[in-house]
Amino acid sequence: MGEFDLIETFFKRPARHATLGVGDDCALLPVRAGQQLAISSDMLVEGRHFLSTVNPRWLGYKALAVNLSDLAACGAEPKAFMLALALPEVNAAWLSEFSKGLWDLADVHQCDLIGGDTTRGPLNICITVLGEVPAHLALLRSGAKAGDDIYVSGTLGDARLALEVFRGRLSVPQEVFEQARLRMERPTPRVALGQALRGVASAAADISDGLLGDLQHILKASGVGADIDTPRVASTLAAQSHFNLPLATQLQLSLAGGDDYELVFTAPESKRADIAALSVSLQTPLTRIGQINASQQLRLLDAQGHVVVNDFQSFDHFKTD
Ligand code: ADP
Ligand code: MG
Repeated sequence: MGEFDLIETFFKRPARHATLGVGDDCALLPVRAGQQLAISSDMLVEGRHFLSTVNPRWLGYKALAVNLSDLAACGAEPKAFMLALALPEVNAAWLSEFSKGLWDLADVHQCDLIGGDTTRGPLNICITVLGEVPAHLALLRSGAKAGDDIYVSGTLGDARLALEVFRGRLSVPQEVFEQARLRMERPTPRVALGQALRGVASAAADISDGLLGDLQHILKASGVGADIDTPRVASTLAAQSHFNLPLATQLQLSLAGGDDYELVFTAPESKRADIAALSVSLQTPLTRIGQINASQQLRLLDAQGHVVVNDFQSFDHFKTD
């Protein structure tokens, strides 16, 4: 099978939003009046972000999920995506499963695959997503103000727990592992939440490298500091309700685990009722984990309000461990 047959067979489907999809030199995407395009890319490299043994359907799903998570973090509505793919060989069975995983999630969000590039090389998947957000309503990292509450969505740390079990560094009962593995392989991008937070949240980011690292991006961009109630963060670890992990492990996983694809956001106290209502309507836990202050420092507090030493390392591809 050649390059064009491959694209035709696995990656060409009628477009819903695009004027022109796969097959020409460029795709054409209309943007509605009053809206801005939100654009983001994320690359997944074999050996770095996933193992060669991963189920290709889940890999396709996750490659799009991590990108949609970025659109969610800025409050954008997904419209389309581009797929740049390097493949060591044409393996039709693998491609069929991989593309199914992509379509599974693309269909949930009505997101069109409108083009890309395909080449031979070490397995590498780069997706660029395009979404719409009303002008001036995008959620940015730079809007947090002293006094704002800090929230996280969903559960934190379970994906990392699964990774540590895979690496043989942690052991947990099989059913706890299976749940955690779902969080690692099939993360849920918080697309509806991101859009619902327009005009509610003062700043937002998605949690891909670990809560503390991603929160730091908000603090830096906003020129503020924060106090974090660490037991509240640890309480979001889903595995915790089935299996008693040591507190230090709970904290390491939930504060700095990474691969969560949840949102961390800030909002003024006056929005507490709105946020509680959103949590119910979207059936998504939203946990208040602390408060923004003017100190420019990130302080971690224990249950008694004492400062916890912050030696939690978020994920950084260029740091050696
Ligand atoms: P060009 O020669 O202009 O780079 P290509 O031959 O690479 O174009 O691609 C032909 C068409 O197929 C283009 O519309 C391109 O966007 C699309 N395409 C290529 N690879 C992919 C892919 N992996 N997924 C979706 N569309 C693709
Ligand atoms: Mg090309």
